[in-house]
Amino acid sequence: MPELPEVQTVVTTLAPRVLRRRIRKVVHVRDDMVTPDGFDLKKNLTGKTITGLARRGKRIVFSIDGANSFFIHLGMTGRLMVEPKDAPLAIHTHLILDLGANARGEKQQLRFRDPRRFGEIRWLGCESCDEKMGIEPLVMRTSQLAEKFSRTTRAIKNALMDQSVVAGLGNIYVDESLFDARIHPLTPANTLTKSQVAALTQSIKRVLKRAITHRGSTLRDYADADGNAGAFQRLHRVYDRKGHPCPRCKTPIERIVLGGRSTHFCAHCQRQ
Ligand SMILES: [Zn+2]
Repeated sequence: MPELPEVQTVVTTLAPRVLRRRIRKVVHVRDDMVTPDGFDLKKNLTGKTITGLARRGKRIVFSIDGANSFFIHLGMTGRLMVEPKDAPLAIHTHLILDLGANARGEKQQLRFRDPRRFGEIRWLGCESCDEKMGIEPLVMRTSQLAEKFSRTTRAIKNALMDQSVVAGLGNIYVDESLFDARIHPLTPANTLTKSQVAALTQSIKRVLKRAITHRGSTLRDYADADGNAGAFQRLHRVYDRKGHPCPRCKTPIERIVLGGRSTHFCAHCQRQ
C-alpha cells in the first residue's frame, strides 16, 4: 500500500499538472467509491478550479475554489495520473476529470484507477481533513509522540500503524523505522523510555525523508503521477528481507505476524 513517501511523491509530481486547472467536466465517476454515500460529485466539481494540492497522512487533498476540498486515498493499488484525453482508458478507472487543454494545447484528463478498489474519493466540503487523524511524522516533536504512546499498551508496531496516532505510516516504514531506532516491534508503546521515543522520532523522519528522496518504494504496482516507479525498495534494511543478514550485525532478519501484518526485525539489534 502506498505510504507517506509514495503519496508525497504522487502529490509532488501531480501538482504542476493539475494546479490552477479547471474541471471542465466529470466524465466518469464510480459512485460506490465516493463518500459520503450518494454525494453528487459531478454537480459539485464541474466548473471548479483546482487551487491546492496537499498530502495529509496518506490522503491526497484537492482544494477547489469556493473553499471546498475533497481527497483521494490510493488504497492498495490506486494510481492518479494526468493523461491525454484520447489515451486508451485502462480498466478499473473510477474517476475521470476533464481538465481541458494545457499550456501546449494538449487536451488532458485526470484519471484515478484502482484495480482492487480499496481506495476512496471523499468530499470534505469546507471541513478540514484533520478529524481523527494523527500527527504528521515529518514535523512531529518527541513530546507529541510520547503523549500518544503514554495512552496505549499496544505493541509499538501496532500503535504506529494506527492513523490516529501518526498519519501516513504503514507496514514498510514502521518496520524500517523501528529497526533504525533499535526498538523491538512487540514493545508495549507506553513502556518506551524518553530516549527511545526521541530516537524513534528521529528515525521515522530519517527513513521517510530518504524514501521521499528515492521517490518511494515500488513493490508491485505503485507509480507516481508521471508513471515512474520508486527506487527505495532496494534500500529496505528489514522489510520483506526475512532470512537475509541484518545490515548491522549479520543476524538473519526474522518475520512475525502482528495485527495481521507481516513484521520484520533483527532479534539481536532490536531486543525486547
Ligand atoms: Zn542486527
